[in-house]
Amino acid sequence: MKKGKKLYEGKAKILYAAPDKGTAIQHFKDDATAFNNQKKAIIEGKGILNNRISEHILSSLNHIGIETHLIKRINMREQLIKLVEIIPIEFIIRNIATGSLTKRLGIEEGTILEKPLLEFCYKDDSLGDPLIAREHIYAFNYCDVKTLNFITNQCFRINDFLQGMFKGIGIKLVDFKLEFGRTRKNESGSTTEKILLADEISPDTCRLWDATSEKKLDKDIFRKDLGNLIKGYQEVARRLDILHEQTNIRPIKFTKPIAVKIKKK
Ligand code: 5GP
Repeated sequence: MKKGKKLYEGKAKILYAAPDKGTAIQHFKDDATAFNNQKKAIIEGKGILNNRISEHILSSLNHIGIETHLIKRINMREQLIKLVEIIPIEFIIRNIATGSLTKRLGIEEGTILEKPLLEFCYKDDSLGDPLIAREHIYAFNYCDVKTLNFITNQCFRINDFLQGMFKGIGIKLVDFKLEFGRTRKNESGSTTEKILLADEISPDTCRLWDATSEKKLDKDIFRKDLGNLIKGYQEVARRLDILHEQTNIRPIKFTKPIAVKIKKK
């Protein structure tokens, strides 16, 4: 598929125009960033793994009726997606206390939350994605009550589904971030605006712990220098049964591309 002009470049992905109106190509980069861009690295193979893992998760969500921006994966690093206008809110769902929640409120690390907790952060790197209240969302018109209620419901459904899916492969879904977007009216033949799950769901956007050892299998490996990030992401892909056994795992910093074998559908 022919890529058009670059529409947007983020920290981990690039969006290109696609031939059909209302669609775009989402390209997964190998760049890893943490702490609001203060820590950076290029980790070869990360984009390939996130592309495949996110495709698997979003397709599974589609099957249970969650509408997402994903149309199809087109190659190792790229997906064809529906072009949406991203709602400038990061929806954070937590099942176990860790990360910024423990720092902010002094909650003990690893506390299992009685009910999943949904938090809203305003999506702005220059402000450090600050936590906001529902009232801020309405006051500054980031989205209306109906849309926020719909998204809230989607977040808990997605959490229920993903918690079960990961539990089945011996992984605890500790927390994760979701983004949603609006389709533009009259595009893709639609006359009504739709709210779609967008961005990605991958070990870059989730905290995933091995159910027994609580070993980190997500981006915290990079954030906290816990070892080989690729090995953690490969383990997630392997347990999801979308990656053949890896025979050649390299350390984080290497020069040659690693051989990641993706199963054909
Ligand atoms: P925390 O607020 O504890 O730093 O993050 C909570 C969860 O949301 C973690 O799973 C984290 O990976 C995800 N998350 C929060 N903000 C971002 C972000 O800006 N980028 C990515 N990739 N994940 C985020």
